[in-house]
Amino acid sequence: MVYFYPEYDKYEPQHVLQSEAERVDDSEEIKKEVDDSKYPDYQRMLEQSLMNALHRLCVICYEDSRKNGWWDEKIETKDAEMAQIATKIALMHSELSEALEAIRTSAQHDDPHFAEELADCVIRICDLCGAFQIDLGDALIEKLKKNRTRGYKHGGKAI
Ligand SMILES: [Mg+2]
Repeated sequence: MVYFYPEYDKYEPQHVLQSEAERVDDSEEIKKEVDDSKYPDYQRMLEQSLMNALHRLCVICYEDSRKNGWWDEKIETKDAEMAQIATKIALMHSELSEALEAIRTSAQHDDPHFAEELADCVIRICDLCGAFQIDLGDALIEKLKKNRTRGYKHGGKAI
């Protein structure tokens, strides 16, 4: 079960501008807070609604992109299809570079241009998933579950 926060509306990120001295390992605290036995139906409902929302988002992004002509290229071989996917992935990278450039310029994490470039990247990911019927929602839920088991800094990685 992926843990979502029933108290999400009250959630405040704890890491923002937190100094090393102030940082504490609160993973045990979080596990206690989100005891899923207290909210099994709620957790299932959240998982399902997240998956549905992502599925719809992928369809919307793909449909918009297709209507704008971004899938008009004729693809007749497996190699051409792989090259097309590689190009789409490169364009996802480019959106992240634009996000980096935005924050380099503004030095503000709440810069709307930064958020817009992150959104562009999500749109491109959803577009690709929509085009190839990749179940992003299911993959996301499974990956969140997996990450929950990986421990502090995923087993002590530096970054
Ligand atoms: Mg962009």
